[in-house]
Amino acid sequence: MLSRTERRERAVADALRTLIRDLYLERFGVAPERLDGIDLALTARICPADGWALTFDPPLSEQVSGHIEEAQAAHAVYRPGRVWCFRCESAECDHAAPPSAVSVFRAYTSTGQPEWQDLHQAFIAAQDTRVDRLFADAPELVALVQSGRELRHEQLSSFGRSSKTYSILGQVVAGYFQLPRRAAGRDESRRLAVTFQVVETRGRGGRLEVRLNTIAGVSAGIELDDLFAEAWEPWALRARELAARALAALSERAEAARQAARTEEFQSAMRRVPTVLRRLAEFLERGQRQGRRRTRHVEDRRQEDRRPVHKALDDARAAAAGALYADEKTGTLVVCGPQSRAHVFNVEGRHVTSFVLGPGAVDFRLRTRRWRQATPEEAAALKTRIRGSGASEQSTASGAP
Ligand SMILES: [Zn+2]
Repeated sequence: MLSRTERRERAVADALRTLIRDLYLERFGVAPERLDGIDLALTARICPADGWALTFDPPLSEQVSGHIEEAQAAHAVYRPGRVWCFRCESAECDHAAPPSAVSVFRAYTSTGQPEWQDLHQAFIAAQDTRVDRLFADAPELVALVQSGRELRHEQLSSFGRSSKTYSILGQVVAGYFQLPRRAAGRDESRRLAVTFQVVETRGRGGRLEVRLNTIAGVSAGIELDDLFAEAWEPWALRARELAARALAALSERAEAARQAARTEEFQSAMRRVPTVLRRLAEFLERGQRQGRRRTRHVEDRRQEDRRPVHKALDDARAAAAGALYADEKTGTLVVCGPQSRAHVFNVEGRHVTSFVLGPGAVDFRLRTRRWRQATPEEAAALKTRIRGSGASEQSTASGAP
């Protein structure tokens, strides 16, 4: 037999447990299995003179929410460039990234494991005849919109179907983009397929976030954002930025509506997702058609770029102070010359490589702090070393580093 105290303790624990569980589910959907135990320290005050009034300050639900949000944030599920795998409870497992450069996300399996397929298979499965264009003599970029429903319909609820920590609302699969030679590895075709995935997730404080996750099978060490900035035409970057901006606005509106419990407004914000996806697909396809003429110019410049190393030295000698950058990642110095030429030198003043900068590439690298302006000392030292070195001992290389 339980004593009266024990019975009451049990009733309180049970009520508290249910409250915490429901608060969690309301905010995040299914709890990841590997979410560790959450420590709760609750503050309450009892007032005997006031008929034993019990007060929580802040309110009990707020105290509990604070703790579970912290625990959830520590268990971060959103990783750019990777898909959450509900089966392994990880974004680091082999299932979480595309197995090849032409792979796109197909769907979650019943056990919540991401599955991938080649881009052309996505078009075949959708009975979309544009698949021909992928294999035409002059291949065209094609983009296919897929709904969240079709990407999740095999997934069981016990494996994340209703999870709000990584919920796919839809995606655009597109290709082929052309990989720069340095990123293509042994694949001569240099084809790259990209999955632009719209994901609902939970950020700091349990805030709803709708994000655009760009996923592609590029080899380790190659950053997709670098490829966007340096190798691809500005239309691809712009199309993606427009979509990301539209989603950020939509996300703000939806979160405000959710907090104020304005269901209709919340739903109307979320219904914009398919429109954003359709426009992204259109922009990608149209941009590529219009960009073709410009691409030819870039190719011409790339040919021209394979000039001997003395061009690099000439550019470096003639470079103004503002055209010298330090690459923080590789510890090299970069000289930006005329016609978007960039030449990389190591600290000894030896020419490492030259490449053609894509539009916006310098800005992008400065913004992401990959590059910084070289100091006057660094610039002077480089020029002195270059003066002392003959072109004959230098090596010629092309292709971006
Ligand atoms: Zn996995």
